[in-house]
Amino acid sequence: QQNAIVIGAGVAGMACAIRLAVAGYAVTVFEKNAAPGGKLSQLQLGNYSFDTGPSLFTEPGNIAALFALAGEPMQDYFSYEPLAIACRYFYEDGTVLDGFTNAQLLAEEIAQKTGEPATAVTQYLHTAAGLYNSTGKIFLQHSLHSRKTWLHAPIREALRHARPAYLLKSLHRLNSQCFNDARVVQLFNRFATYNGSNPYKAPAMLRMIPHLEHNEGVFYPKGGMISIANALYRLACVKGVVFHFNTPVQHILQQQNRVQGVTAGNRHYYAPVVISNIDAYFTYKYLLGNEVAAQRLLKQERSSSALIFYWGIGKSFPALQLHNIFFSNSYREEFEAIFKHRQLHSDPTVYVNITAKCEPGLHAPAGKENWFVMVNAPAGDYAGHEQVKQQCRANVIQKLNRLLQTDIEPLIEEEQVMDPTGIEAQTASYMGSLYGTSSNSPMAAFLRHPNFSRSIKGLYFAGGSVHPGGGIPLCLRSAAIVAGKILDT
Ligand code: FAD
Repeated sequence: QQNAIVIGAGVAGMACAIRLAVAGYAVTVFEKNAAPGGKLSQLQLGNYSFDTGPSLFTEPGNIAALFALAGEPMQDYFSYEPLAIACRYFYEDGTVLDGFTNAQLLAEEIAQKTGEPATAVTQYLHTAAGLYNSTGKIFLQHSLHSRKTWLHAPIREALRHARPAYLLKSLHRLNSQCFNDARVVQLFNRFATYNGSNPYKAPAMLRMIPHLEHNEGVFYPKGGMISIANALYRLACVKGVVFHFNTPVQHILQQQNRVQGVTAGNRHYYAPVVISNIDAYFTYKYLLGNEVAAQRLLKQERSSSALIFYWGIGKSFPALQLHNIFFSNSYREEFEAIFKHRQLHSDPTVYVNITAKCEPGLHAPAGKENWFVMVNAPAGDYAGHEQVKQQCRANVIQKLNRLLQTDIEPLIEEEQVMDPTGIEAQTASYMGSLYGTSSNSPMAAFLRHPNFSRSIKGLYFAGGSVHPGGGIPLCLRSAAIVAGKILDT
Protein backbone atom coordinates (compact mmCIF):
# COMPACT_ATOMS: atom_id res chain seq x y z
CA GLN A 1 0.00 0.00 0.00
CA GLN A 2 1.31 3.46 -0.97
CA ASN A 3 1.49 6.21 1.65
CA ALA A 4 0.23 9.76 1.13
CA ILE A 5 0.48 12.73 3.47
CA VAL A 6 -1.89 15.71 3.47
CA ILE A 7 -0.87 18.96 5.15
CA GLY A 8 -3.99 20.70 6.49
CA ALA A 9 -7.53 19.47 7.17
CA GLY A 10 -9.36 22.14 5.17
CA VAL A 11 -12.13 20.99 2.83
CA ALA A 12 -9.70 20.39 -0.04
CA GLY A 13 -7.26 18.49 2.18
CA MET A 14 -10.00 16.21 3.48
CA ALA A 15 -11.44 15.70 -0.01
CA CYS A 16 -7.97 14.69 -1.30
CA ALA A 17 -7.57 12.31 1.64
CA ILE A 18 -10.95 10.68 0.93
CA ARG A 19 -10.22 10.30 -2.78
CA LEU A 20 -6.81 8.72 -2.19
CA ALA A 21 -8.03 6.47 0.63
CA VAL A 22 -10.81 5.17 -1.62
CA ALA A 23 -8.13 4.43 -4.24
CA GLY A 24 -6.22 2.32 -1.73
CA TYR A 25 -3.65 4.76 -0.32
CA ALA A 26 -2.78 4.86 3.38
CA VAL A 27 -3.42 8.55 4.06
CA THR A 28 -2.25 10.62 7.02
CA VAL A 29 -3.46 14.20 7.55
CA PHE A 30 -1.54 16.66 9.73
CA GLU A 31 -3.52 19.65 11.00
CA LYS A 32 -2.14 22.46 13.13
CA ASN A 33 -5.54 23.24 14.71
CA ALA A 34 -7.44 21.09 17.20
CA ALA A 35 -10.29 20.35 14.77
CA PRO A 36 -10.88 19.80 11.04
CA GLY A 37 -12.39 22.35 8.63
CA GLY A 38 -9.84 25.18 8.37
CA LYS A 39 -11.85 28.24 7.38
CA LEU A 40 -15.03 26.26 8.08
CA SER A 41 -15.05 26.53 11.80
CA GLN A 42 -17.46 27.32 14.59
CA LEU A 43 -17.62 29.83 17.42
CA GLN A 44 -19.72 29.68 20.58
CA LEU A 45 -20.49 32.96 22.36
CA GLY A 46 -22.78 32.44 25.35
CA ASN A 47 -25.97 30.90 23.99
CA TYR A 48 -25.15 31.83 20.40
CA SER A 49 -23.20 29.77 17.88
CA PHE A 50 -21.71 30.96 14.60
CA ASP A 51 -20.10 29.56 11.48
CA THR A 52 -16.88 31.57 11.49
CA GLY A 53 -16.05 31.63 7.78
CA PRO A 54 -17.97 30.58 4.67
CA SER A 55 -21.74 30.90 4.77
CA LEU A 56 -22.95 30.54 1.19
CA PHE A 57 -23.33 26.96 0.01
CA THR A 58 -23.63 26.23 -3.71
CA GLU A 59 -22.92 23.20 -5.89
CA PRO A 60 -23.65 20.47 -3.32
CA GLY A 61 -22.96 17.95 -6.10
CA ASN A 62 -19.25 18.27 -5.32
CA ILE A 63 -19.88 16.77 -1.89
CA ALA A 64 -22.35 14.17 -3.15
CA ALA A 65 -19.65 13.06 -5.61
CA LEU A 66 -17.29 12.28 -2.72
CA PHE A 67 -19.88 10.15 -0.94
CA ALA A 68 -20.74 8.35 -4.17
CA LEU A 69 -17.05 7.67 -4.79
CA ALA A 70 -16.67 6.35 -1.25
CA GLY A 71 -19.84 4.23 -1.55
CA GLU A 72 -21.32 5.74 1.61
CA PRO A 73 -24.90 7.05 1.96
CA MET A 74 -24.58 10.82 2.23
CA GLN A 75 -27.86 11.18 4.10
CA ASP A 76 -26.31 9.35 7.06
CA TYR A 77 -23.71 12.12 7.35
CA PHE A 78 -25.04 15.29 5.83
CA SER A 79 -28.20 16.91 4.50
CA TYR A 80 -29.14 20.25 3.06
CA GLU A 81 -32.19 22.11 1.81
CA PRO A 82 -32.69 24.39 -1.18
CA LEU A 83 -33.42 28.06 -0.53
CA ALA A 84 -36.10 30.04 -2.40
CA ILE A 85 -34.25 33.31 -1.83
CA ALA A 86 -30.48 33.38 -2.25
CA CYS A 87 -30.09 36.83 -0.73
CA ARG A 88 -32.14 39.87 0.25
CA TYR A 89 -30.63 43.10 -1.06
CA PHE A 90 -31.07 46.47 0.67
CA TYR A 91 -30.18 49.74 -1.10
CA GLU A 92 -29.72 53.17 0.44
CA ASP A 93 -32.66 54.52 -1.63
CA GLY A 94 -35.01 52.18 0.27
CA THR A 95 -35.26 49.49 -2.43
CA VAL A 96 -35.45 45.99 -0.99
CA LEU A 97 -35.03 43.24 -3.55
CA ASP A 98 -35.22 39.47 -3.16
CA GLY A 99 -32.60 37.49 -5.08
CA PHE A 100 -34.78 34.48 -5.91
CA THR A 101 -32.93 31.31 -6.83
CA ASN A 102 -35.46 30.77 -9.63
CA ALA A 103 -34.33 32.81 -12.67
CA GLN A 104 -37.85 33.73 -13.79
CA LEU A 105 -38.90 34.87 -10.30
CA LEU A 106 -35.71 36.90 -9.98
CA ALA A 107 -36.35 38.57 -13.34
CA GLU A 108 -39.92 39.46 -12.32
CA GLU A 109 -38.77 40.79 -8.94
CA ILE A 110 -36.10 42.95 -10.56
CA ALA A 111 -38.56 44.22 -13.19
CA GLN A 112 -41.10 45.11 -10.52
CA LYS A 113 -38.66 46.83 -8.16
CA THR A 114 -36.41 48.60 -10.69
CA GLY A 115 -38.19 48.71 -14.05
CA GLU A 116 -35.36 46.74 -15.69
CA PRO A 117 -36.97 44.50 -18.34
CA ALA A 118 -37.33 40.93 -17.08
CA THR A 119 -35.95 39.65 -20.38
CA ALA A 120 -32.65 41.44 -19.73
CA VAL A 121 -32.22 39.33 -16.58
CA THR A 122 -33.35 36.01 -18.06
CA GLN A 123 -31.12 36.55 -21.10
CA TYR A 124 -28.16 37.41 -18.86
CA LEU A 125 -28.62 34.24 -16.82
CA HIS A 126 -29.16 32.15 -19.92
CA THR A 127 -25.84 33.36 -21.35
CA ALA A 128 -24.20 32.80 -17.96
CA ALA A 129 -25.39 29.18 -18.02
CA GLY A 130 -24.04 28.66 -21.54
CA LEU A 131 -20.67 30.12 -20.61
CA TYR A 132 -20.44 28.06 -17.44
CA ASN A 133 -21.37 24.81 -19.17
CA SER A 134 -19.12 25.32 -22.18
CA THR A 135 -16.10 27.03 -20.68
CA GLY A 136 -16.31 27.33 -16.90
CA LYS A 137 -16.84 23.68 -16.13
CA ILE A 138 -13.94 22.60 -18.33
CA PHE A 139 -11.45 25.08 -16.89
CA LEU A 140 -12.55 24.38 -13.34
CA GLN A 141 -12.32 20.62 -13.68
CA HIS A 142 -8.86 20.30 -15.20
CA SER A 143 -5.37 21.41 -14.40
CA LEU A 144 -4.48 24.39 -16.59
CA HIS A 145 -0.85 23.41 -16.31
CA SER A 146 -0.85 19.91 -17.78
CA ARG A 147 -0.16 19.26 -21.43
CA LYS A 148 -2.79 16.55 -21.35
CA THR A 149 -5.45 19.15 -20.54
CA TRP A 150 -4.63 21.22 -23.59
CA LEU A 151 -4.78 18.18 -25.82
CA HIS A 152 -8.17 17.29 -24.37
CA ALA A 153 -10.86 17.94 -26.98
CA PRO A 154 -13.43 19.72 -24.68
CA ILE A 155 -10.77 22.32 -23.82
CA ARG A 156 -10.47 23.34 -27.43
CA GLU A 157 -14.27 23.50 -27.57
CA ALA A 158 -14.31 25.64 -24.40
CA LEU A 159 -11.80 28.06 -25.87
CA ARG A 160 -14.00 28.47 -28.91
CA HIS A 161 -16.89 29.65 -26.66
CA ALA A 162 -14.79 32.00 -24.49
CA ARG A 163 -15.10 35.31 -26.28
CA PRO A 164 -12.02 37.56 -25.97
CA ALA A 165 -14.33 40.34 -24.74
CA TYR A 166 -15.01 38.29 -21.61
CA LEU A 167 -11.33 38.51 -20.76
CA LEU A 168 -10.64 42.07 -21.93
CA LYS A 169 -13.67 43.87 -20.52
CA SER A 170 -14.40 44.30 -16.80
CA LEU A 171 -17.43 42.65 -15.22
CA HIS A 172 -18.82 46.11 -14.42
CA ARG A 173 -18.49 47.24 -18.02
CA LEU A 174 -20.29 44.20 -19.31
CA ASN A 175 -23.04 44.53 -16.70
CA SER A 176 -23.49 48.23 -17.57
CA GLN A 177 -24.04 47.17 -21.18
CA CYS A 178 -26.55 44.48 -20.19
CA PHE A 179 -28.63 46.52 -17.72
CA ASN A 180 -29.92 50.12 -17.52
CA ASP A 181 -30.63 50.31 -13.82
CA ALA A 182 -27.64 51.04 -11.59
CA ARG A 183 -29.08 48.84 -8.81
CA VAL A 184 -29.19 45.85 -11.13
CA VAL A 185 -25.65 46.52 -12.35
CA GLN A 186 -24.54 46.65 -8.71
CA LEU A 187 -26.33 43.39 -7.90
CA PHE A 188 -24.57 41.53 -10.71
CA ASN A 189 -21.25 43.31 -10.02
CA ARG A 190 -21.32 41.83 -6.55
CA PHE A 191 -20.55 38.36 -7.88
CA ALA A 192 -16.90 39.42 -8.35
CA THR A 193 -16.63 39.39 -4.57
CA TYR A 194 -17.35 35.66 -4.60
CA ASN A 195 -13.68 35.16 -5.25
CA GLY A 196 -12.53 38.29 -3.47
CA SER A 197 -12.15 40.44 -6.58
CA ASN A 198 -13.00 43.94 -7.77
CA PRO A 199 -15.85 44.07 -10.34
CA TYR A 200 -14.36 47.21 -11.90
CA LYS A 201 -11.16 45.27 -12.72
CA ALA A 202 -12.06 41.58 -12.81
CA PRO A 203 -12.79 40.15 -16.26
CA ALA A 204 -16.35 39.77 -17.51
CA MET A 205 -15.74 36.01 -17.53
CA LEU A 206 -17.02 36.12 -13.93
CA ARG A 207 -20.49 36.71 -15.38
CA MET A 208 -20.90 32.94 -15.17
CA ILE A 209 -20.97 32.99 -11.33
CA PRO A 210 -24.64 34.09 -10.94
CA HIS A 211 -25.63 31.05 -12.98
CA LEU A 212 -24.76 28.91 -9.96
CA GLU A 213 -27.00 30.90 -7.64
CA HIS A 214 -29.94 31.75 -9.88
CA ASN A 215 -30.12 28.71 -12.15
CA GLU A 216 -28.62 25.93 -10.03
CA GLY A 217 -29.57 27.17 -6.57
CA VAL A 218 -28.34 28.04 -3.10
CA PHE A 219 -28.58 25.57 -0.25
CA TYR A 220 -28.52 25.49 3.52
CA PRO A 221 -26.61 22.63 5.15
CA LYS A 222 -28.54 21.40 8.19
CA GLY A 223 -26.60 22.31 11.32
CA GLY A 224 -24.80 25.14 9.50
CA MET A 225 -21.68 25.20 7.33
CA ILE A 226 -19.66 23.39 9.99
CA SER A 227 -21.64 20.26 9.12
CA ILE A 228 -19.81 20.16 5.75
CA ALA A 229 -16.46 19.93 7.54
CA ASN A 230 -17.81 17.40 10.02
CA ALA A 231 -19.29 15.21 7.26
CA LEU A 232 -16.02 15.15 5.30
CA TYR A 233 -14.07 14.37 8.45
CA ARG A 234 -16.35 11.45 9.37
CA LEU A 235 -16.23 10.11 5.83
CA ALA A 236 -12.43 10.31 5.79
CA CYS A 237 -12.23 8.44 9.11
CA VAL A 238 -14.57 5.71 7.85
CA LYS A 239 -12.30 5.31 4.83
CA GLY A 240 -9.32 4.81 7.12
CA VAL A 241 -7.65 8.23 6.93
CA VAL A 242 -5.53 8.94 10.03
CA PHE A 243 -5.64 12.50 11.42
CA HIS A 244 -3.05 14.16 13.68
CA PHE A 245 -4.52 17.35 15.17
CA ASN A 246 -2.53 20.06 16.95
CA THR A 247 0.35 18.91 14.76
CA PRO A 248 1.74 21.59 12.43
CA VAL A 249 3.98 20.34 9.67
CA GLN A 250 7.40 22.00 10.04
CA HIS A 251 9.14 20.92 6.81
CA ILE A 252 8.52 19.08 3.61
CA LEU A 253 11.32 16.54 3.19
CA GLN A 254 12.83 16.18 -0.26
CA GLN A 255 15.83 14.54 -1.88
CA GLN A 256 17.03 14.98 -5.44
CA ASN A 257 13.88 16.85 -6.40
CA ARG A 258 11.65 14.09 -5.09
CA VAL A 259 9.39 14.52 -2.08
CA GLN A 260 10.22 12.17 0.81
CA GLY A 261 7.63 13.10 3.43
CA VAL A 262 7.27 15.71 6.17
CA THR A 263 8.54 16.69 9.58
CA ALA A 264 5.82 17.26 12.15
CA GLY A 265 6.16 17.37 15.93
CA ASN A 266 9.93 16.97 15.34
CA ARG A 267 9.36 13.49 13.85
CA HIS A 268 9.84 12.46 10.25
CA TYR A 269 6.97 10.82 8.39
CA TYR A 270 7.77 9.31 5.00
CA ALA A 271 5.59 9.15 1.90
CA PRO A 272 6.19 9.43 -1.86
CA VAL A 273 3.12 11.69 -2.18
CA VAL A 274 2.63 14.91 -0.17
CA ILE A 275 -0.30 17.28 -0.73
CA SER A 276 -0.19 20.77 0.69
CA ASN A 277 -3.65 22.10 1.53
CA ILE A 278 -2.21 25.26 3.05
CA ASP A 279 -1.58 28.61 1.43
CA ALA A 280 0.96 28.07 -1.36
CA TYR A 281 2.92 31.11 -0.13
CA PHE A 282 3.45 29.55 3.33
CA THR A 283 4.25 26.20 1.76
CA TYR A 284 7.20 27.72 -0.09
CA LYS A 285 8.27 30.15 2.62
CA TYR A 286 8.22 27.89 5.67
CA LEU A 287 7.81 24.26 4.64
CA LEU A 288 10.20 24.34 1.69
CA GLY A 289 12.35 27.27 2.84
CA ASN A 290 12.24 28.65 -0.69
CA GLU A 291 12.01 32.41 -0.24
CA VAL A 292 12.49 33.12 -3.94
CA ALA A 293 9.50 31.03 -4.98
CA ALA A 294 7.46 32.47 -2.10
CA GLN A 295 8.19 36.04 -3.22
CA ARG A 296 7.29 35.14 -6.79
CA LEU A 297 3.82 34.17 -5.58
CA LEU A 298 3.41 37.58 -3.95
CA LYS A 299 3.61 39.24 -7.36
CA GLN A 300 -0.02 38.27 -7.75
CA GLU A 301 -2.51 40.43 -5.92
CA ARG A 302 -4.20 38.79 -2.93
CA SER A 303 -7.96 38.48 -2.86
CA SER A 304 -9.84 40.68 -0.41
CA SER A 305 -10.18 39.72 3.22
CA ALA A 306 -12.91 40.61 5.71
CA LEU A 307 -13.67 42.27 8.97
CA ILE A 308 -16.27 40.16 10.75
CA PHE A 309 -18.46 40.95 13.73
CA TYR A 310 -20.13 37.98 15.39
CA TRP A 311 -23.11 39.42 17.22
CA GLY A 312 -25.65 37.69 19.43
CA ILE A 313 -28.72 39.88 18.81
CA GLY A 314 -31.43 39.88 21.47
CA LYS A 315 -34.31 40.22 19.04
CA SER A 316 -35.70 38.64 15.90
CA PHE A 317 -35.86 40.64 12.64
CA PRO A 318 -38.62 39.36 10.31
CA ALA A 319 -37.35 41.75 7.60
CA LEU A 320 -34.15 39.69 7.28
CA GLN A 321 -33.36 36.45 5.45
CA LEU A 322 -30.56 33.90 5.91
CA HIS A 323 -28.32 35.96 3.58
CA ASN A 324 -28.65 39.77 3.46
CA ILE A 325 -26.66 42.47 1.69
CA PHE A 326 -26.78 46.15 2.58
CA PHE A 327 -25.19 47.78 -0.43
CA SER A 328 -22.73 50.65 -0.30
CA ASN A 329 -23.97 53.78 -2.00
CA SER A 330 -20.50 54.30 -3.47
CA TYR A 331 -19.59 50.85 -4.74
CA ARG A 332 -16.75 51.85 -7.06
CA GLU A 333 -15.12 53.86 -4.27
CA GLU A 334 -15.49 50.88 -1.95
CA PHE A 335 -13.35 48.71 -4.24
CA GLU A 336 -10.87 51.52 -4.81
CA ALA A 337 -10.53 51.84 -1.05
CA ILE A 338 -9.95 48.08 -0.68
CA PHE A 339 -7.64 47.34 -3.61
CA LYS A 340 -5.97 50.71 -4.35
CA HIS A 341 -5.75 52.55 -1.04
CA ARG A 342 -5.82 49.36 1.04
CA GLN A 343 -8.35 50.84 3.43
CA LEU A 344 -11.77 50.05 4.79
CA HIS A 345 -14.45 52.13 3.06
CA SER A 346 -16.52 54.61 5.08
CA ASP A 347 -19.78 53.33 3.51
CA PRO A 348 -19.08 49.60 3.31
CA THR A 349 -21.32 46.96 1.78
CA VAL A 350 -22.47 44.96 4.79
CA TYR A 351 -23.29 41.25 4.62
CA VAL A 352 -25.42 39.77 7.40
CA ASN A 353 -25.84 36.01 7.69
CA ILE A 354 -28.29 34.56 10.23
CA THR A 355 -28.43 30.76 10.43
CA ALA A 356 -31.07 31.04 13.18
CA LYS A 357 -33.46 31.90 10.32
CA CYS A 358 -33.19 28.31 9.03
CA GLU A 359 -32.98 26.53 12.37
CA PRO A 360 -34.70 28.72 14.97
CA GLY A 361 -33.63 27.94 18.51
CA LEU A 362 -30.56 25.95 17.43
CA HIS A 363 -27.96 28.69 16.91
CA ALA A 364 -29.58 31.35 19.09
CA PRO A 365 -32.10 31.37 21.94
CA ALA A 366 -35.76 31.51 20.82
CA GLY A 367 -36.71 34.97 19.59
CA LYS A 368 -33.05 35.97 19.17
CA GLU A 369 -30.60 35.78 16.27
CA ASN A 370 -26.93 34.97 15.59
CA TRP A 371 -25.65 37.68 13.25
CA PHE A 372 -22.49 37.09 11.25
CA VAL A 373 -21.77 40.61 9.99
CA MET A 374 -19.02 40.97 7.41
CA VAL A 375 -17.52 43.80 5.37
CA ASN A 376 -14.94 43.40 2.63
CA ALA A 377 -11.50 44.50 3.77
CA PRO A 378 -8.06 44.65 2.19
CA ALA A 379 -5.90 41.65 3.01
CA GLY A 380 -3.14 42.87 5.33
CA ASP A 381 -1.70 43.22 8.79
CA TYR A 382 -4.27 44.70 11.19
CA ALA A 383 -2.29 44.36 14.40
CA GLY A 384 -2.71 47.55 16.43
CA HIS A 385 -5.37 48.99 14.10
CA GLU A 386 -8.03 49.09 16.82
CA GLN A 387 -9.27 52.55 15.92
CA VAL A 388 -9.81 51.63 12.27
CA LYS A 389 -11.84 48.60 13.31
CA GLN A 390 -13.88 50.62 15.81
CA GLN A 391 -14.63 53.21 13.12
CA CYS A 392 -15.75 50.45 10.77
CA ARG A 393 -17.98 48.99 13.48
CA ALA A 394 -19.58 52.42 13.99
CA ASN A 395 -20.12 52.77 10.21
CA VAL A 396 -21.70 49.31 10.01
CA ILE A 397 -24.03 50.02 12.91
CA GLN A 398 -25.06 53.39 11.44
CA LYS A 399 -25.82 51.75 8.11
CA LEU A 400 -27.86 48.93 9.62
CA ASN A 401 -29.73 51.39 11.88
CA ARG A 402 -30.55 53.51 8.85
CA LEU A 403 -31.69 50.70 6.56
CA LEU A 404 -33.50 48.65 9.21
CA GLN A 405 -34.84 51.73 11.01
CA THR A 406 -33.76 50.43 14.36
CA ASP A 407 -31.08 50.85 16.99
CA ILE A 408 -28.79 47.83 16.83
CA GLU A 409 -26.22 48.68 19.52
CA PRO A 410 -28.39 47.96 22.60
CA LEU A 411 -29.45 44.62 21.07
CA ILE A 412 -25.89 43.24 20.90
CA GLU A 413 -25.75 40.71 23.75
CA GLU A 414 -22.56 38.92 22.68
CA GLU A 415 -19.75 40.10 20.45
CA GLN A 416 -16.49 38.93 18.95
CA VAL A 417 -14.50 40.54 16.15
CA MET A 418 -12.31 38.78 13.60
CA ASP A 419 -9.92 40.75 11.39
CA PRO A 420 -7.61 39.63 8.54
CA THR A 421 -4.76 39.11 11.00
CA GLY A 422 -6.99 36.77 13.03
CA ILE A 423 -7.97 34.91 9.85
CA GLU A 424 -4.28 34.44 9.04
CA ALA A 425 -3.54 33.24 12.57
CA GLN A 426 -6.38 30.71 12.55
CA THR A 427 -6.19 29.36 9.02
CA ALA A 428 -2.68 30.31 7.83
CA SER A 429 -4.08 32.24 4.88
CA TYR A 430 -1.47 34.88 4.06
CA MET A 431 -2.68 38.38 5.07
CA GLY A 432 -6.07 36.84 5.81
CA SER A 433 -7.12 36.75 2.15
CA LEU A 434 -10.31 34.71 1.86
CA TYR A 435 -9.72 33.24 -1.59
CA GLY A 436 -5.94 33.15 -2.18
CA THR A 437 -5.15 35.42 -5.13
CA SER A 438 -7.64 37.84 -6.67
CA SER A 439 -9.08 37.59 -10.19
CA ASN A 440 -8.48 41.26 -10.91
CA SER A 441 -6.60 40.64 -14.13
CA PRO A 442 -7.52 38.79 -17.32
CA MET A 443 -4.63 36.38 -16.78
CA ALA A 444 -5.36 35.68 -13.10
CA ALA A 445 -6.85 32.23 -13.76
CA PHE A 446 -3.72 31.20 -15.64
CA LEU A 447 -1.30 32.65 -13.08
CA ARG A 448 -2.78 30.88 -10.07
CA HIS A 449 -0.39 28.26 -8.70
CA PRO A 450 -0.68 24.83 -10.37
CA ASN A 451 -1.99 21.77 -8.51
CA PHE A 452 1.44 20.15 -8.60
CA SER A 453 5.05 21.17 -8.18
CA ARG A 454 7.04 21.45 -11.36
CA SER A 455 10.36 21.06 -9.55
CA ILE A 456 9.62 18.56 -6.75
CA LYS A 457 8.16 15.28 -7.93
CA GLY A 458 5.41 13.91 -5.70
CA LEU A 459 4.43 17.32 -4.26
CA TYR A 460 0.87 18.50 -4.95
CA PHE A 461 -1.27 21.52 -4.00
CA ALA A 462 -5.00 21.66 -3.24
CA GLY A 463 -7.13 24.43 -1.76
CA GLY A 464 -8.14 28.03 -2.08
CA SER A 465 -4.75 29.52 -2.98
CA VAL A 466 -4.17 27.32 -6.06
CA HIS A 467 -6.01 26.41 -9.24
CA PRO A 468 -8.96 26.68 -9.77
CA GLY A 469 -9.35 29.11 -6.82
CA GLY A 470 -11.07 29.85 -3.52
CA GLY A 471 -14.55 29.01 -2.28
CA ILE A 472 -15.73 25.57 -1.19
CA PRO A 473 -16.84 24.32 -4.64
CA LEU A 474 -13.53 25.23 -6.28
CA CYS A 475 -11.49 23.84 -3.38
CA LEU A 476 -13.33 20.53 -3.76
CA ARG A 477 -12.56 20.61 -7.47
CA SER A 478 -8.89 21.22 -6.78
CA ALA A 479 -8.95 18.01 -4.72
CA ALA A 480 -10.47 16.09 -7.63
CA ILE A 481 -7.79 17.46 -9.99
CA VAL A 482 -4.98 16.56 -7.56
CA ALA A 483 -6.28 13.04 -6.93
CA GLY A 484 -6.77 12.53 -10.66
CA LYS A 485 -3.19 13.58 -11.30
CA ILE A 486 -1.74 11.35 -8.57
CA LEU A 487 -3.74 8.30 -9.64
CA ASP A 488 -2.83 8.92 -13.27
CA THR A 489 0.93 8.81 -12.67
P1 FAD B 1 -8.32 26.03 4.57
O1 FAD B 1 -9.71 26.22 5.08
O2 FAD B 1 -7.55 27.23 4.20
O3 FAD B 1 -7.57 25.15 5.60
C1 FAD B 1 -6.18 24.95 5.59
C2 FAD B 1 -5.86 24.16 6.85
O4 FAD B 1 -4.45 23.99 6.92
C3 FAD B 1 -6.26 24.88 8.13
O5 FAD B 1 -7.04 24.02 8.91
C4 FAD B 1 -4.93 25.21 8.80
O6 FAD B 1 -5.02 25.21 10.21
C5 FAD B 1 -4.06 24.11 8.28
N1 FAD B 1 -2.62 24.41 8.32
C6 FAD B 1 -2.00 25.57 8.01
N2 FAD B 1 -0.67 25.46 8.16
C7 FAD B 1 -0.44 24.19 8.57
C8 FAD B 1 0.73 23.43 8.87
N3 FAD B 1 1.96 23.97 8.78
N4 FAD B 1 0.60 22.14 9.25
C9 FAD B 1 -0.63 21.56 9.35
N5 FAD B 1 -1.77 22.23 9.07
C10 FAD B 1 -1.68 23.52 8.69
N6 FAD B 1 -16.36 30.05 0.41
C11 FAD B 1 -17.59 29.72 -0.04
O7 FAD B 1 -17.73 28.77 -0.82
N7 FAD B 1 -18.71 30.42 0.36
C12 FAD B 1 -18.62 31.48 1.22
O8 FAD B 1 -19.64 32.07 1.61
C13 FAD B 1 -17.33 31.86 1.70
N8 FAD B 1 -17.20 32.89 2.57
C14 FAD B 1 -16.01 33.02 3.26
C15 FAD B 1 -15.97 33.89 4.35
C16 FAD B 1 -14.81 33.95 5.14
C17 FAD B 1 -14.78 34.89 6.30
C18 FAD B 1 -13.70 33.13 4.81
C19 FAD B 1 -12.47 33.15 5.68
C20 FAD B 1 -13.73 32.31 3.70
C21 FAD B 1 -14.88 32.24 2.92
N9 FAD B 1 -14.99 31.37 1.83
C22 FAD B 1 -16.21 31.09 1.28
C23 FAD B 1 -13.81 30.69 1.29
C24 FAD B 1 -13.70 29.26 1.79
O9 FAD B 1 -13.90 29.21 3.16
C25 FAD B 1 -12.29 28.75 1.49
O10 FAD B 1 -11.98 28.94 0.11
C26 FAD B 1 -12.14 27.27 1.81
O11 FAD B 1 -12.77 26.92 3.00
C27 FAD B 1 -10.64 27.00 1.88
O12 FAD B 1 -10.45 25.63 2.05
P2 FAD B 1 -9.00 25.00 1.89
O13 FAD B 1 -9.21 23.58 1.53
O14 FAD B 1 -8.18 25.84 0.99
O15 FAD B 1 -8.36 25.00 3.34
